[in-house]
Amino acid sequence: MEIKELMKKATMFHGHICPGIAIGVLVAKYALEHGFEHSPDEELVAVVETDNCSVDALQVLLGTTYGKGNLIHKDYGKSNYNIYSRKNQKGVRLALKKSILNNNKLSRDEKIQKFLGLKPEDVFEIRNIEYDPPMMAHIEESVLCEICGELTMDSRMMNYQNKNMCIPCYKEFKK
Ligand SMILES: [Zn+2]
Ligand SMILES: [Zn+2]
Repeated sequence: MEIKELMKKATMFHGHICPGIAIGVLVAKYALEHGFEHSPDEELVAVVETDNCSVDALQVLLGTTYGKGNLIHKDYGKSNYNIYSRKNQKGVRLALKKSILNNNKLSRDEKIQKFLGLKPEDVFEIRNIEYDPPMMAHIEESVLCEICGELTMDSRMMNYQNKNMCIPCYKEFKK
């Protein structure tokens, strides 16, 4: 798919056009062109180290989504993207080059145009990484919190003073 098409699709999903989404589109384009096909299920996993605008491009273009559990956010505040293919048993890491953000004189639109005109290799440090993806997401039973009565994933339940409770109720109790 052409970069313009990818950008259009990502912008529709994201809601506005911005330099962040352009960066995410470049990540997705590179992945799609290097054997990482769009993922209807959990064929791909993305481990991203940022929660900025760029991640939305990965969700819509690569199918690595928060809801399916094949988008993992590590809260490091870095524009680094690790993508794994379970099908091809390989991984790639794209890390934003610092030189890319140096030119602050550009307007928002100029930045977007500049990014879209660059080669991925100019924007990111790119290297193959060991195939070591996070585990598959799994469906889990929900149980009732004894305090608020809301259904809660079993693994998130706390036991406190002999009661099984959800995390918000536990926090209330401990005050
Ligand atoms: Zn944005
Ligand atoms: Zn509760």
